[in-house]
Amino acid sequence: MKHSDFYKNGIQFECQGSGKCCTSHGEYGFVFLTLKDRQRMAQHLKLSTLQFTKKYCQKSRGFFHLREDLGNPDCLFLKNKRCTIYAARPTQCRTWPFWPEVLNAKTWSKDVASFCPGVGKGTLHSAETIHAAKIEQYTSELALLRESKT
Ligand code: SF4
Repeated sequence: MKHSDFYKNGIQFECQGSGKCCTSHGEYGFVFLTLKDRQRMAQHLKLSTLQFTKKYCQKSRGFFHLREDLGNPDCLFLKNKRCTIYAARPTQCRTWPFWPEVLNAKTWSKDVASFCPGVGKGTLHSAETIHAAKIEQYTSELALLRESKT
């Protein structure tokens, strides 16, 4: 996967703790979990992976994701706008907003900049840093796809 011109000069972003990305919104609703994510989170909570999966996960179309509460759009680990599992949070939470599918001008302005208050604030992330996060997210998405077929 190549660098994109879109972020060749870096992107300024710093989480403002709004908790907005931890709440279901449209097509970015689910917090998907690879096996590695589930293992890391289970270990953090001192549970077996099976216990964690039974307690906190659902499967849709073969993909594991955090359990959703239809009456509450917030992630089940979000408390007082803070992630209660931050150190072990899922890959997609750690790589946000540098996901392959949003790193283009159109999607960035429509789905990211208009919604996430961290865009344009704080740290200027270099093209290399962004690229590394993008690759990590891409690799994780491939693992999800692979795991959905087993
Ligand atoms: S796991 Fe943490 S960072 Fe990820 S959506 Fe839930 S509260 Fe937010």
